[in-house]
Amino acid sequence: MADFMSTLTFAVLPGDYIGPEVMTEALRVLAHVARKENITLSYEIADVGGAGIDNHGKALPDSTLELCRKSDAILFGSVGGPKWEKLPPKEQPERAALLPLRKAFSLFANIRPGLLYKDLVDASPLKAERIPNGIDIVCIRELTGGIYFGQPKTTITLPNGEEQAVDTMIYKTSEIERIAEVAAVTARARGKRVCSVDKANVLETSVLWRKTVIAYFAKHHPDLALTHMYVDNAAMQLARDPNQFDVLFTENMFGDILSDEMAVICGSLGMMSSASLGVGSNRHGKPFGLYEPAGGTAPDIAGKGIANPCAQILSAALMLRYSFGLDALATRIEAAVRKTVAVDGVRTGDIAFGRPTVGTIAMADAIIRNL
Ligand code: NAD
Repeated sequence: MADFMSTLTFAVLPGDYIGPEVMTEALRVLAHVARKENITLSYEIADVGGAGIDNHGKALPDSTLELCRKSDAILFGSVGGPKWEKLPPKEQPERAALLPLRKAFSLFANIRPGLLYKDLVDASPLKAERIPNGIDIVCIRELTGGIYFGQPKTTITLPNGEEQAVDTMIYKTSEIERIAEVAAVTARARGKRVCSVDKANVLETSVLWRKTVIAYFAKHHPDLALTHMYVDNAAMQLARDPNQFDVLFTENMFGDILSDEMAVICGSLGMMSSASLGVGSNRHGKPFGLYEPAGGTAPDIAGKGIANPCAQILSAALMLRYSFGLDALATRIEAAVRKTVAVDGVRTGDIAFGRPTVGTIAMADAIIRNL
Protein backbone atom coordinates (compact mmCIF):
# COMPACT_ATOMS: atom_id res chain seq x y z
CA MET A 1 0.00 0.00 0.00
CA ALA A 2 2.79 2.40 0.96
CA ASP A 3 4.49 1.80 -2.40
CA PHE A 4 1.30 2.41 -4.31
CA MET A 5 0.54 5.61 -2.42
CA SER A 6 4.03 6.93 -3.01
CA THR A 7 3.71 6.37 -6.77
CA LEU A 8 1.92 9.13 -8.65
CA THR A 9 0.34 7.87 -11.85
CA PHE A 10 -0.72 10.58 -14.25
CA ALA A 11 -1.13 11.25 -17.96
CA VAL A 12 0.91 14.04 -19.53
CA LEU A 13 -0.70 15.72 -22.54
CA PRO A 14 1.54 18.64 -23.60
CA GLY A 15 -0.45 19.69 -26.70
CA ASP A 16 0.80 22.28 -29.19
CA TYR A 17 3.16 25.25 -29.67
CA ILE A 18 4.40 26.33 -26.21
CA GLY A 19 2.55 23.38 -24.58
CA PRO A 20 5.52 20.96 -24.83
CA GLU A 21 8.03 23.72 -23.93
CA VAL A 22 6.42 24.58 -20.60
CA MET A 23 5.42 20.97 -19.88
CA THR A 24 9.06 19.85 -20.03
CA GLU A 25 9.87 22.36 -17.29
CA ALA A 26 6.90 21.38 -15.11
CA LEU A 27 8.02 17.75 -15.31
CA ARG A 28 11.56 18.77 -14.29
CA VAL A 29 10.17 20.57 -11.24
CA LEU A 30 8.03 17.54 -10.34
CA ALA A 31 10.99 15.21 -10.80
CA HIS A 32 13.05 17.37 -8.45
CA VAL A 33 10.51 17.35 -5.60
CA ALA A 34 9.76 13.66 -6.18
CA ARG A 35 13.45 12.77 -5.85
CA LYS A 36 13.72 14.73 -2.62
CA GLU A 37 10.57 13.17 -1.14
CA ASN A 38 11.17 9.61 -2.31
CA ILE A 39 8.09 9.68 -4.48
CA THR A 40 7.93 7.77 -7.76
CA LEU A 41 6.47 9.57 -10.74
CA SER A 42 4.78 7.20 -13.15
CA TYR A 43 3.64 9.06 -16.22
CA GLU A 44 3.29 8.60 -19.95
CA ILE A 45 3.26 11.41 -22.50
CA ALA A 46 0.57 11.36 -25.19
CA ASP A 47 -0.57 13.47 -28.13
CA VAL A 48 -3.56 15.76 -27.87
CA GLY A 49 -4.98 18.66 -29.88
CA GLY A 50 -3.16 19.53 -33.09
CA ALA A 51 -0.51 16.90 -32.30
CA GLY A 52 -3.33 14.34 -32.04
CA ILE A 53 -4.76 15.43 -35.39
CA ASP A 54 -1.37 15.33 -37.11
CA ASN A 55 -0.23 11.99 -35.69
CA HIS A 56 -3.50 10.08 -35.21
CA GLY A 57 -6.15 11.93 -37.24
CA LYS A 58 -8.05 12.96 -34.09
CA ALA A 59 -7.67 15.76 -31.50
CA LEU A 60 -8.32 13.25 -28.74
CA PRO A 61 -6.84 9.95 -29.99
CA ASP A 62 -8.34 6.76 -28.52
CA SER A 63 -4.91 5.79 -27.15
CA THR A 64 -4.69 9.13 -25.30
CA LEU A 65 -8.14 8.70 -23.79
CA GLU A 66 -7.21 5.16 -22.79
CA LEU A 67 -4.06 6.43 -21.06
CA CYS A 68 -6.12 9.02 -19.17
CA ARG A 69 -8.53 6.31 -18.02
CA LYS A 70 -5.62 4.36 -16.50
CA SER A 71 -4.33 7.45 -14.68
CA ASP A 72 -5.22 9.26 -11.45
CA ALA A 73 -4.89 12.73 -12.98
CA ILE A 74 -4.11 14.52 -16.25
CA LEU A 75 -1.44 17.17 -16.55
CA PHE A 76 -2.49 19.11 -19.64
CA GLY A 77 -0.63 21.77 -21.64
CA SER A 78 -2.70 23.66 -24.17
CA VAL A 79 -3.97 22.95 -27.65
CA GLY A 80 -4.68 24.64 -30.95
CA GLY A 81 -3.12 27.29 -33.12
CA PRO A 82 -2.92 28.65 -36.66
CA LYS A 83 -1.94 25.30 -38.18
CA TRP A 84 -5.42 23.85 -37.49
CA GLU A 85 -7.51 27.02 -37.69
CA LYS A 86 -9.07 26.13 -41.06
CA LEU A 87 -10.63 22.92 -39.75
CA PRO A 88 -14.42 22.93 -39.23
CA PRO A 89 -15.35 24.24 -35.73
CA LYS A 90 -16.28 20.76 -34.45
CA GLU A 91 -12.80 19.44 -35.34
CA GLN A 92 -10.87 22.35 -33.82
CA PRO A 93 -8.30 21.06 -31.30
CA GLU A 94 -9.76 22.91 -28.30
CA ARG A 95 -13.32 21.83 -28.88
CA ALA A 96 -12.50 18.31 -30.06
CA ALA A 97 -10.03 17.55 -27.25
CA LEU A 98 -11.02 19.46 -24.12
CA LEU A 99 -14.80 19.11 -24.30
CA PRO A 100 -14.70 15.30 -24.70
CA LEU A 101 -12.18 15.08 -21.84
CA ARG A 102 -14.47 17.14 -19.61
CA LYS A 103 -17.34 14.88 -20.58
CA ALA A 104 -15.44 11.59 -20.26
CA PHE A 105 -14.33 12.40 -16.70
CA SER A 106 -17.33 14.52 -15.63
CA LEU A 107 -15.00 17.41 -14.79
CA PHE A 108 -17.64 19.52 -13.10
CA ALA A 109 -15.53 21.89 -10.98
CA ASN A 110 -13.09 24.36 -12.47
CA ILE A 111 -10.85 25.98 -9.89
CA ARG A 112 -8.78 28.99 -10.89
CA PRO A 113 -6.54 30.77 -8.43
CA GLY A 114 -6.38 34.50 -9.10
CA LEU A 115 -2.97 35.37 -7.81
CA LEU A 116 -0.93 38.49 -8.35
CA TYR A 117 2.18 38.89 -6.22
CA LYS A 118 2.61 42.15 -4.33
CA ASP A 119 5.79 43.01 -6.20
CA LEU A 120 4.06 42.62 -9.56
CA VAL A 121 1.08 44.92 -9.08
CA ASP A 122 2.24 46.97 -12.04
CA ALA A 123 1.43 43.98 -14.29
CA SER A 124 -2.28 44.43 -13.51
CA PRO A 125 -4.45 46.83 -15.50
CA LEU A 126 -5.93 47.90 -12.13
CA LYS A 127 -4.42 50.92 -10.40
CA ALA A 128 -1.74 49.86 -7.93
CA GLU A 129 -3.49 51.67 -5.06
CA ARG A 130 -6.52 49.38 -5.46
CA ILE A 131 -4.37 46.29 -4.94
CA PRO A 132 -1.48 47.40 -2.70
CA ASN A 133 -0.84 43.79 -1.58
CA GLY A 134 -1.47 42.15 -4.94
CA ILE A 135 -4.44 39.82 -5.48
CA ASP A 136 -5.22 36.49 -3.86
CA ILE A 137 -8.64 35.05 -4.64
CA VAL A 138 -10.06 31.84 -6.14
CA CYS A 139 -12.80 31.49 -8.72
CA ILE A 140 -14.75 28.24 -8.85
CA ARG A 141 -16.84 27.63 -11.94
CA GLU A 142 -19.39 24.88 -12.51
CA LEU A 143 -18.20 23.27 -15.72
CA THR A 144 -20.60 20.61 -16.99
CA GLY A 145 -24.07 22.13 -16.60
CA GLY A 146 -25.96 25.28 -17.44
CA ILE A 147 -26.60 26.97 -20.75
CA TYR A 148 -23.63 25.49 -22.63
CA PHE A 149 -25.10 22.00 -22.42
CA GLY A 150 -28.87 22.32 -21.80
CA GLN A 151 -31.31 21.03 -24.43
CA PRO A 152 -33.02 22.24 -26.56
CA LYS A 153 -30.17 24.11 -28.19
CA THR A 154 -31.15 24.88 -31.73
CA THR A 155 -31.84 27.40 -34.47
CA ILE A 156 -35.10 27.22 -36.42
CA THR A 157 -36.59 29.23 -39.28
CA LEU A 158 -39.93 30.78 -38.40
CA PRO A 159 -42.92 30.86 -40.82
CA ASN A 160 -42.11 34.50 -41.64
CA GLY A 161 -38.59 33.49 -42.73
CA GLU A 162 -36.59 34.95 -39.85
CA GLU A 163 -34.39 32.70 -37.77
CA GLN A 164 -34.83 31.98 -34.07
CA ALA A 165 -32.22 30.42 -31.81
CA VAL A 166 -32.62 28.90 -28.38
CA ASP A 167 -30.19 27.85 -25.65
CA THR A 168 -31.43 26.27 -22.46
CA MET A 169 -30.05 26.80 -18.97
CA ILE A 170 -30.68 23.86 -16.67
CA TYR A 171 -29.45 23.11 -13.13
CA LYS A 172 -30.42 20.35 -10.72
CA THR A 173 -30.06 20.51 -6.94
CA SER A 174 -27.39 17.79 -6.95
CA GLU A 175 -25.27 19.70 -9.49
CA ILE A 176 -25.43 22.83 -7.35
CA GLU A 177 -24.64 20.97 -4.13
CA ARG A 178 -21.53 19.29 -5.46
CA ILE A 179 -19.98 22.57 -6.66
CA ALA A 180 -21.01 24.23 -3.37
CA GLU A 181 -19.01 21.53 -1.58
CA VAL A 182 -15.90 22.31 -3.68
CA ALA A 183 -16.30 26.01 -2.86
CA ALA A 184 -16.66 25.24 0.84
CA VAL A 185 -13.64 22.95 0.98
CA THR A 186 -11.56 25.54 -0.88
CA ALA A 187 -12.66 28.36 1.43
CA ARG A 188 -12.00 26.26 4.52
CA ALA A 189 -8.33 25.99 3.51
CA ARG A 190 -8.14 29.77 2.94
CA GLY A 191 -10.06 32.76 4.31
CA LYS A 192 -13.32 30.86 5.11
CA ARG A 193 -15.40 33.28 3.02
CA VAL A 194 -17.54 32.22 0.08
CA CYS A 195 -19.40 34.51 -2.29
CA SER A 196 -21.95 32.72 -4.45
CA VAL A 197 -22.69 34.57 -7.68
CA ASP A 198 -26.03 34.27 -9.50
CA LYS A 199 -28.76 36.27 -11.22
CA ALA A 200 -31.57 35.31 -8.88
CA ASN A 201 -33.50 38.49 -9.65
CA VAL A 202 -34.14 37.24 -13.21
CA LEU A 203 -33.30 33.55 -13.72
CA GLU A 204 -35.17 30.50 -12.38
CA THR A 205 -31.94 28.50 -12.32
CA SER A 206 -30.40 31.20 -10.14
CA VAL A 207 -33.35 31.13 -7.72
CA LEU A 208 -32.77 27.40 -7.29
CA TRP A 209 -28.98 27.99 -7.13
CA ARG A 210 -29.31 30.49 -4.28
CA LYS A 211 -31.90 28.45 -2.36
CA THR A 212 -29.79 25.30 -2.66
CA VAL A 213 -26.53 27.02 -1.69
CA ILE A 214 -28.12 28.59 1.41
CA ALA A 215 -29.57 25.25 2.53
CA TYR A 216 -26.34 23.35 1.78
CA PHE A 217 -24.10 25.71 3.72
CA ALA A 218 -26.56 25.92 6.63
CA LYS A 219 -26.51 22.12 6.90
CA HIS A 220 -22.86 21.27 6.10
CA HIS A 221 -20.74 24.40 6.54
CA PRO A 222 -22.51 26.76 8.96
CA ASP A 223 -19.19 28.16 10.21
CA LEU A 224 -18.18 29.57 6.79
CA ALA A 225 -19.16 33.14 5.88
CA LEU A 226 -21.52 32.85 2.91
CA THR A 227 -22.63 35.86 0.87
CA HIS A 228 -24.47 36.24 -2.43
CA MET A 229 -24.00 38.65 -5.29
CA TYR A 230 -25.67 39.23 -8.65
CA VAL A 231 -23.31 38.52 -11.52
CA ASP A 232 -23.41 42.03 -12.99
CA ASN A 233 -22.38 43.47 -9.62
CA ALA A 234 -19.71 40.76 -9.22
CA ALA A 235 -18.14 41.80 -12.53
CA MET A 236 -17.95 45.40 -11.28
CA GLN A 237 -16.71 44.47 -7.82
CA LEU A 238 -13.92 42.32 -9.27
CA ALA A 239 -12.58 45.35 -11.13
CA ARG A 240 -13.16 47.71 -8.18
CA ASP A 241 -11.81 45.71 -5.25
CA PRO A 242 -10.94 42.07 -6.08
CA ASN A 243 -9.65 41.23 -2.62
CA GLN A 244 -13.10 41.70 -1.09
CA PHE A 245 -13.54 38.13 -2.35
CA ASP A 246 -11.92 35.02 -0.95
CA VAL A 247 -13.67 32.23 -2.86
CA LEU A 248 -16.04 33.25 -5.62
CA PHE A 249 -18.22 30.50 -7.03
CA THR A 250 -20.78 30.42 -9.75
CA GLU A 251 -22.45 28.56 -12.60
CA ASN A 252 -20.87 27.74 -15.95
CA MET A 253 -21.41 30.79 -18.17
CA PHE A 254 -21.02 33.39 -15.41
CA GLY A 255 -17.84 31.59 -14.31
CA ASP A 256 -16.50 31.54 -17.86
CA ILE A 257 -16.74 35.33 -18.02
CA LEU A 258 -15.74 36.18 -14.44
CA SER A 259 -12.72 33.86 -14.45
CA ASP A 260 -11.38 35.55 -17.59
CA GLU A 261 -11.92 38.95 -16.00
CA MET A 262 -10.04 37.67 -12.97
CA ALA A 263 -7.19 36.45 -15.22
CA VAL A 264 -6.79 39.85 -16.79
CA ILE A 265 -6.76 41.79 -13.51
CA CYS A 266 -4.12 39.37 -12.24
CA GLY A 267 -1.86 40.69 -14.96
CA SER A 268 -0.34 37.70 -16.65
CA LEU A 269 -1.68 34.64 -18.44
CA GLY A 270 1.73 33.05 -17.99
CA MET A 271 1.08 32.78 -14.24
CA MET A 272 -2.51 31.46 -14.23
CA SER A 273 -3.05 27.80 -13.36
CA SER A 274 -6.27 25.83 -13.15
CA ALA A 275 -7.72 22.57 -11.92
CA SER A 276 -10.83 20.81 -13.22
CA LEU A 277 -12.07 18.16 -10.82
CA GLY A 278 -14.21 15.17 -11.68
CA VAL A 279 -16.92 13.22 -9.93
CA GLY A 280 -15.86 10.39 -7.65
CA SER A 281 -12.44 9.40 -6.37
CA ASN A 282 -9.22 8.18 -7.93
CA ARG A 283 -7.08 5.38 -6.47
CA HIS A 284 -5.72 7.81 -3.87
CA GLY A 285 -9.24 8.53 -2.63
CA LYS A 286 -8.98 12.02 -4.12
CA PRO A 287 -10.77 13.61 -7.09
CA PHE A 288 -9.57 12.74 -10.57
CA GLY A 289 -8.58 16.04 -12.14
CA LEU A 290 -7.26 17.76 -15.23
CA TYR A 291 -4.67 20.45 -14.54
CA GLU A 292 -3.77 23.07 -17.12
CA PRO A 293 -2.60 26.65 -17.57
CA ALA A 294 -5.43 29.13 -18.09
CA GLY A 295 -3.75 30.52 -21.22
CA GLY A 296 -3.47 29.01 -24.66
CA THR A 297 -0.64 27.82 -26.89
CA ALA A 298 0.89 31.30 -27.45
CA PRO A 299 1.91 30.63 -31.09
CA ASP A 300 3.44 34.14 -31.25
CA ILE A 301 6.26 33.15 -28.89
CA ALA A 302 6.46 29.37 -29.48
CA GLY A 303 9.93 28.05 -30.29
CA LYS A 304 11.66 31.15 -28.93
CA GLY A 305 12.42 29.65 -25.53
CA ILE A 306 10.78 32.56 -23.69
CA ALA A 307 7.37 31.14 -22.68
CA ASN A 308 6.64 31.53 -19.00
CA PRO A 309 6.53 28.02 -17.48
CA CYS A 310 4.98 29.19 -14.17
CA ALA A 311 1.32 28.51 -15.08
CA GLN A 312 2.21 24.93 -16.03
CA ILE A 313 4.35 24.45 -12.92
CA LEU A 314 1.59 25.88 -10.70
CA SER A 315 -0.91 23.57 -12.42
CA ALA A 316 1.33 20.63 -11.52
CA ALA A 317 1.29 21.88 -7.91
CA LEU A 318 -2.52 21.89 -7.99
CA MET A 319 -2.41 18.29 -9.23
CA LEU A 320 -0.29 17.30 -6.22
CA ARG A 321 -2.74 19.07 -3.90
CA TYR A 322 -6.10 17.94 -5.26
CA SER A 323 -5.54 14.55 -6.93
CA PHE A 324 -2.74 13.22 -4.71
CA GLY A 325 -3.41 14.96 -1.38
CA LEU A 326 0.17 16.32 -1.22
CA ASP A 327 -0.74 19.76 0.04
CA ALA A 328 2.59 20.57 1.68
CA LEU A 329 4.47 19.73 -1.50
CA ALA A 330 2.12 21.85 -3.59
CA THR A 331 2.60 24.75 -1.17
CA ARG A 332 6.38 24.35 -1.44
CA ILE A 333 6.29 24.60 -5.24
CA GLU A 334 3.99 27.63 -5.03
CA ALA A 335 6.36 29.29 -2.56
CA ALA A 336 9.35 28.60 -4.84
CA VAL A 337 7.54 30.18 -7.80
CA ARG A 338 6.59 33.18 -5.69
CA LYS A 339 10.15 33.63 -4.43
CA THR A 340 11.63 33.28 -7.92
CA VAL A 341 9.27 35.72 -9.58
CA ALA A 342 8.47 38.23 -6.85
CA VAL A 343 11.55 38.27 -4.62
CA ASP A 344 14.41 37.27 -6.90
CA GLY A 345 12.85 39.09 -9.85
CA VAL A 346 13.49 36.27 -12.34
CA ARG A 347 10.93 36.66 -15.11
CA THR A 348 10.33 35.48 -18.60
CA GLY A 349 8.34 35.78 -21.75
CA ASP A 350 5.50 37.80 -20.48
CA ILE A 351 4.47 41.02 -22.06
CA ALA A 352 2.85 42.11 -18.82
CA PHE A 353 6.21 41.93 -17.07
CA GLY A 354 8.02 44.09 -19.61
CA ARG A 355 11.47 42.94 -20.60
CA PRO A 356 12.08 39.28 -19.74
CA THR A 357 15.23 38.62 -17.75
CA VAL A 358 15.72 34.93 -18.59
CA GLY A 359 14.38 32.18 -20.86
CA THR A 360 11.98 29.33 -20.06
CA ILE A 361 14.62 26.80 -19.00
CA ALA A 362 16.58 29.26 -16.86
CA MET A 363 13.35 30.29 -15.15
CA ALA A 364 12.57 26.68 -14.23
CA ASP A 365 16.18 26.25 -13.04
CA ALA A 366 15.69 29.24 -10.73
CA ILE A 367 12.47 27.77 -9.37
CA ILE A 368 14.18 24.43 -8.76
CA ARG A 369 16.97 26.21 -6.86
CA ASN A 370 14.33 27.78 -4.62
CA LEU A 371 12.59 24.50 -3.87
P1 NAD B 1 -2.94 32.65 -25.71
O1 NAD B 1 -3.30 32.50 -24.28
O2 NAD B 1 -2.27 31.50 -26.35
O3 NAD B 1 -2.03 33.95 -25.90
C1 NAD B 1 -2.46 35.27 -25.53
C2 NAD B 1 -1.21 36.13 -25.24
O4 NAD B 1 -0.65 35.72 -23.99
C3 NAD B 1 -0.12 35.97 -26.29
O5 NAD B 1 0.53 37.19 -26.48
C4 NAD B 1 0.83 34.97 -25.67
O6 NAD B 1 2.15 35.11 -26.11
C5 NAD B 1 0.69 35.30 -24.17
N1 NAD B 1 0.93 34.11 -23.35
C6 NAD B 1 0.07 33.09 -23.11
N2 NAD B 1 0.66 32.16 -22.35
C7 NAD B 1 1.91 32.62 -22.11
C8 NAD B 1 3.02 32.10 -21.40
N3 NAD B 1 2.98 30.92 -20.77
N4 NAD B 1 4.16 32.84 -21.36
C9 NAD B 1 4.23 34.02 -21.96
N5 NAD B 1 3.22 34.57 -22.65
C10 NAD B 1 2.07 33.87 -22.74
O7 NAD B 1 -4.31 33.00 -26.47
P2 NAD B 1 -4.60 33.10 -28.03
O8 NAD B 1 -3.46 33.74 -28.73
O9 NAD B 1 -5.94 33.69 -28.12
O10 NAD B 1 -4.74 31.60 -28.51
C11 NAD B 1 -3.70 30.86 -29.17
C12 NAD B 1 -4.19 29.45 -29.40
O11 NAD B 1 -4.39 28.80 -28.13
C13 NAD B 1 -5.54 29.37 -30.12
O12 NAD B 1 -5.49 28.33 -31.06
C14 NAD B 1 -6.52 29.07 -29.03
O13 NAD B 1 -7.63 28.37 -29.52
C15 NAD B 1 -5.68 28.21 -28.12
N6 NAD B 1 -6.16 28.17 -26.73
C16 NAD B 1 -6.12 26.97 -26.12
C17 NAD B 1 -6.52 26.86 -24.81
C18 NAD B 1 -6.45 25.52 -24.14
O14 NAD B 1 -5.82 24.63 -24.64
N7 NAD B 1 -7.08 25.36 -23.00
C19 NAD B 1 -6.95 27.99 -24.10
C20 NAD B 1 -6.94 29.24 -24.76
C21 NAD B 1 -6.55 29.31 -26.09
